[in-house]
Order: sequence, then structure tokens, then C-alpha cells
Amino acid sequence: MSVLFSGSIKADTGPKEQAVLHDIVKQISPDNIEKDITKLVSFGTRHTLSETKSETRGIGAARRWIKAEFERISRACNDCLEVYFQAKTISGEKRIPDATEVVSVIAVLKGKTDPSRYVVMSGDIDSRVTDVMDFTSDSPGANDNASGVAGVLEAARVLSQYSFHGSIVFAALAGEEQGLFGGKIMAEQAQKDGWRIKAVLNNDMIGNISGINGVINNTTARIFAEGTRQNETEKQARKRRFTGGEVDSPTRNLARYIDRMADDYIPNLDTMMIYRLDRFGRGGHHRPFNDLGYPAVRIMETNENYNRQHQDLRTEDGIKYGDTLDGVDFDYAAKLTALNAVSLAGMAWAPNPPVNVAIQGAVKPSTTLSWNAPKANEKTIIKGYKIYWRLTDQSQWQYSRYVGNVTQYTLENIVIDNYFFGVASVSHDGFESPIVFPGDAGSFGQ
Ligand SMILES: [Zn+2]
Repeated sequence: MSVLFSGSIKADTGPKEQAVLHDIVKQISPDNIEKDITKLVSFGTRHTLSETKSETRGIGAARRWIKAEFERISRACNDCLEVYFQAKTISGEKRIPDATEVVSVIAVLKGKTDPSRYVVMSGDIDSRVTDVMDFTSDSPGANDNASGVAGVLEAARVLSQYSFHGSIVFAALAGEEQGLFGGKIMAEQAQKDGWRIKAVLNNDMIGNISGINGVINNTTARIFAEGTRQNETEKQARKRRFTGGEVDSPTRNLARYIDRMADDYIPNLDTMMIYRLDRFGRGGHHRPFNDLGYPAVRIMETNENYNRQHQDLRTEDGIKYGDTLDGVDFDYAAKLTALNAVSLAGMAWAPNPPVNVAIQGAVKPSTTLSWNAPKANEKTIIKGYKIYWRLTDQSQWQYSRYVGNVTQYTLENIVIDNYFFGVASVSHDGFESPIVFPGDAGSFGQ
């Protein structure tokens, strides 16, 4: 990159380092994750259409165990979690032809200052083998996706010891393999209930380090993040053509936030931000949230092993197929869980992302950004705002300036045409919200 920023402002290194986030990372336990994945695998199959009456086998036993775990975690924090089943009967679908209850398990850690603001961590309960309709064969789903659920439980265990400004949701979602039903049910209910969701971190396969491509690597992870909002109107798209924002949806800036957390807090982990919704032609439970316009990413391993995904347990030509425990690296799953935990904590301790961010500066030497004043409940926690900018072909924010508790600021002699800009809100103790790109294209909502 040869174009240098021509100004006297020093490139800033981003948010203040937080000792408490290092503490959170240290508490995430690979042993707990191993125990929980082992328990989830012990239910034999967690197929959505599998048995619900048994206490030891099938999806019913698995979800009741997850609920009991959340309740146990809640007892340890003076009932700090609101734990519930979220169920809906689905029928007439290709992969759920007959009436079946799709039941997710949700635990909410309510925020103290701004409880209607939510960040969500999710994983999927259900598993499958080669035939997606086979609900009786053993289907351990150790990596896909007991790893994600175990991560959610462990993050709940650690984060429930703290109290936050915003709410944190821990979700074990159901019916993923049959058509993303649990995510859809949760996203629609959240919208109905007026949840201001600022982030969904969907964890789907966070434990495999041995790829089908021959790569063995426990130091990278992927964050899938779609570009323009799925529910962008034609009018908004026309405006975006002239103001930019194709690579600055709230989902992309959520991915940048998590990427930054990995750099600052997770030793030996580098995240790859991937500018697409998901793996090529494949799906995950962040999508139903994206469908409704919520910022949502998929966090997962970098090197997948297809011999271990959606496979009948068998050995063929000396190759072992199936998603069994021995294919999960618990330390790696813990590392990705820690990344989730610090990202959730960072956002829930930060103020609300700036609202109604606007930018002006066409045919002027300087760029002016403006945003709404904080709401009454935010006033006590907000210290001020920080403007970030970067060259337009850079993936991560490069420059920043803390501008104080104002609602408008002009960056003198910084030309609007040559950079992308955004604003973060900063708490008194130095926690920062994700960075908000101006206009509808980048908005995190109210
Ligand atoms: Zn799967």
C-alpha cells in the first residue's frame, strides 16, 4: 500500500486494553468444554426428528440437559439468568414433513443500564448423518455442533459472574440441519419483542483443526460476514451507490470488532474476516438474523474436514467417517469460545453504538461527522466518541481520534473522498462499541 495518510495525527492503536478481558480469557476452560461435548455426544443422536421421551437418548434429553445446565449456572450467580425453552411446531417442510416441536434453549443475562440492547452468542443443538432424514442412527455431532453449544455454555458460566450495561443472550438453537428453524423462530420473536440486537455471534463448528486440505492449524479462525443488508430498500441501495457502504454493513463492522478482539486478547489466534454470508452455497443460523437486518456473523474453524461432517459412522477404504469426539480439539474450541466471550463482554460493557451517524464534506477540505446525543440511561456510562477512518481498500480501521462528548466533529483537512469513516462510542472505563459507518448502510439501529 503506497498511499500514505498525510496528516499530523498519529495512527491510533484502538480501544484501551482491559485487564478484565484478559481475566475472562483465562477462565474459559477446555476441560469444561470437553465434558460438555462428551455429554452432548452421549445422547446418541440429537436429530431434530429423533426421540423426545427418553432421558438418555435423542433431542429431548439433550435439550433438557442443556436447560438444566443453564439453570445450574444461574443458581451459581443468584439466578442471574432467565432460562427458557423457545418452541414452535413446524410441519409441511421438506425436512420436517410431520408436525415436530422445534425447541431451542435460551438463557438471558439482563443488562443493568440498557436491558433492551442485546448481544447474542449461539450454537446448534441438533446433529445429522448422511441422510438428513435419518433420525435413528448414531449421530454424535461432536464438532457439528456440540462444540458450539459447549462454547455457549462455557461463555455463560464465565460471563454470568459479571454484570453488564447491555444484555447478553446465550442460545442453543434447534432445527439447524433441517432448515435453520431455531434461528428463524428466535429472530422473529426478538423482533416482535423489540429486542435491539446489536450482534449475533453464531458458532458453528469451532473444534476441528485438521483440515481435509491437509492443513493442521490451531491458530486461525474464520468470521463470515455478509456485505450489504439483506433487507436494504431500493432507495437505500441507490443512496449507497453514491456514499459507499458496500463493505461497511453493521455485520462487517461487527466482524472487524471481533477481529480486533482476537488481536488484542487471544494469544496465538488470528481471525480471517471473510466477506461473504457463509461458506459457498452453505448455511448457518446467523442467516435468519441477517434476513431481518440484524448484525450477525458466523465464527468457525478455518480448516474443515468433510469426512467428519454429516457422515454415517463407518470406515471405507481405510478412511474413518463421522463426527466423533476424537476430531475435536478442546483447547482450540476454548480459544474460539474465549474470543466470543471477550467480544460479548466488550460490547455489553460499552455504550450503545452511535445512532443516526451522518457525514458531510463533499467539495470541502474537511469531513464532518454527526450523531445523536446519548439517551438518558446512557449518559452515566458514556465518556464520549471516537472517530475512526481507513483507506478505502483496507479491511481494518487504521486511524482514530477521540473527540469527546460531542454530537458533531470536523476532521480538518481530511478529505471525505479518500477514506471510509465511522464512529464508536466510548465508556468512562474505556470500552468501545463497534464502529458505525454513516447512513442506513452502516446503521446498528436505535
Ligand atoms: Zn451441519
